[in-house]
Amino acid sequence: MTHTTGSPGTDAALDVTALVARARAAAGPDGRATVGDIAGWETFPFEREGLRLRVLEDPVVPEPPRSDEDAATCRRCALPDERFAWTDDTWRLSAGGPVSVPTLILDPRAHGDLGDLDDAGAADLGRMIVRIERALAAVPGVGRVHVHRWGDGNGHLHIFFFARPEGLIQLRGLVMPLWTHHLPALPDDEWDAIVASVVIALDAGRTPA
Ligand SMILES: [Zn+2]
Repeated sequence: MTHTTGSPGTDAALDVTALVARARAAAGPDGRATVGDIAGWETFPFEREGLRLRVLEDPVVPEPPRSDEDAATCRRCALPDERFAWTDDTWRLSAGGPVSVPTLILDPRAHGDLGDLDDAGAADLGRMIVRIERALAAVPGVGRVHVHRWGDGNGHLHIFFFARPEGLIQLRGLVMPLWTHHLPALPDDEWDAIVASVVIALDAGRTPA
């Protein structure tokens, strides 16, 4: 068998055409799939009644370019350090507002996506994720720190850290990013103090030059 895609020596491939065909065959007469079990989760932000799925659209291949794919024109690369809450030689942490829950974003200083990191960069990213998680988790009122990388909108690697408010177990798990869009903003002084505490913790962990 010949291979046109995938890794050499394997037949691995995700057949998107077949996936879409299966989804459409399983859909109801109006083309919509039935709302799944997730709508019954106690953490799901929306009530099942009246909820309906969008019709699954055709795949768009090749996909449209993301923002900041090209290092030469990347706006994340062009941001001055002053726009970030914390930086070192390799990483920059942003803490923009307003936010409904504490939200931090980690970028590598060098342009690239997750898969572009070499082994040393990957190890360093792991250390940074743990350091930021610890710093944010130590803030009173933070129940858990969620770490996300999606990368569908922007080609410069950026890792999200969301702090789930302690005791708000209704916000547990994958639905919390949806909840964040429906909660009011934190007061500026409260958010500024949280960011300052994270910066102090990260500064305390700097490797001496
Ligand atoms: Zn960039």
